[in-house]
Amino acid sequence: MLQARGLETFYGHSQALFGVDLEIAAGEVLALLGRNGMGKTTTIRSLMRLTPPRRGEIRFMDKDISRTAPFRIARLGMGLVPEGRRIFARLSVEENLLAVQTRNGWPLARIYQLFPRLEERAQQSARTLSGGEQQMLAIARALATGPKLLILDEATEGLAPLIREEIWQALRLLKQEEGLSFLIVDKNVNDLLPLAERCLVLEKGQVAWNGESSAFMADQALQQRYLGV
Ligand code: ATP
Repeated sequence: MLQARGLETFYGHSQALFGVDLEIAAGEVLALLGRNGMGKTTTIRSLMRLTPPRRGEIRFMDKDISRTAPFRIARLGMGLVPEGRRIFARLSVEENLLAVQTRNGWPLARIYQLFPRLEERAQQSARTLSGGEQQMLAIARALATGPKLLILDEATEGLAPLIREEIWQALRLLKQEEGLSFLIVDKNVNDLLPLAERCLVLEKGQVAWNGESSAFMADQALQQRYLGV
């Protein structure tokens, strides 16, 4: 469903990605790993062309999107849950969802079924939600756009263990019941790797390792080398 070849992305004169290749099949979860500053967020921003790569090709849903605007890429079914959530703090939960909802997006009832806490707080302004609830809202908002591929950047960062588990549970459900594809960046590799079929490790803007996540999970030396855990 997604193929990227040779992505090279710059911030001004400074190069952040040096020819990144990446592939995600339908229904598959790809874990994107690497230490801080290795290029994970830049890869995500490059795929959605929020930070357009200077070189490289991207295909999504059988279309060349190498020159497509981000809002069109979103309409094709690439949904982003960005680092730091970026919800509309002064709008209510429901307004946050309605603001982005598209014709093919999930109806509110279906979203509330997945996240009952959001229904209880539908009329509250988003800034009054707990960190975990805000994260649920960020995921819910992506679902309201009707994604086929959901991209999550540090979605469980800074959350308490219980609510983190609720988020992983929701992601497992979305994979199993809805057949969504995922690209996930997350420091909690013990939760992420069992959910992922494949994993790709970035080092200094290049792919350092790419393979089955079960192989990565089983190899402590690999994890130590690339993640320092
Ligand atoms: P983190 O986990 O810390 O978010 P990351 O793997 O997502 O790390 P990126 O945020 O993609 O890494 O950063 C990759 C490189 O690009 C780093 O060297 C970083 O300093 C640089 N970089 C990121 N954003 C910018 C920016 N807006 N302007 C200039 N350089 C940037």
